[in-house]
Amino acid sequence: MNYKLIRSNRRTVSISVLQDNSVTVRCPLTMSESRVEQFVNGKKEWIDRVIKANAKICGANLPVLEFKEVLIKGTRVPLIISDANAVTQSAVFVKSKSNIKRLYINYFTEELRSAGFALSEELNIPASDFSVKAYKSRWGCCKRDGKIILNYLLAMLPAELLRYVIVHELCHRIYFNHSKEFWNLVGRFEPHYKILRNKLKAFNYLTNLY
Ligand SMILES: [Zn+2]
Repeated sequence: MNYKLIRSNRRTVSISVLQDNSVTVRCPLTMSESRVEQFVNGKKEWIDRVIKANAKICGANLPVLEFKEVLIKGTRVPLIISDANAVTQSAVFVKSKSNIKRLYINYFTEELRSAGFALSEELNIPASDFSVKAYKSRWGCCKRDGKIILNYLLAMLPAELLRYVIVHELCHRIYFNHSKEFWNLVGRFEPHYKILRNKLKAFNYLTNLY
């Protein structure tokens, strides 16, 4: 099996498989090649499972990955190259695919912020502000000063997942960590948060697309 090996000043060995199926192993400086090999072999079944799951995600979302379609609130609509940028209910028009990010930020920022403020009121957890940003590896972020930042790509997700991400970030206003207490609080507002969290993972491919 091909994998990238990164040695560093760490104590344990770990393995990760990205959405492009690339495998990376991180291990301590002194670990022998054969030990690393042994570790990777022991993880083979798990690696195969991840690669199969990746293929499933890729197959199911091919029109999106090929920029023929794009998501609006969980619904796939045609992505049409045109002489103007516009979002309608039935299609998204862009001059080039490099305009998608800017178009979505312009078009959906106020809506995402409103969703944030509405949930803040519903849950009775204040946030000092909501803003929208293009993140590559996260859906949202809660700052120590009470500001919550939402990934503009949330506009592409079904409403239940947008809601889950905002609830999650709002709960960080109470617990600034991922402790048991934090998840209990999330569970009070979103009893099915584990299911939602898994559904969200299936959309991670979007974060490297635009
Ligand atoms: Zn979190």
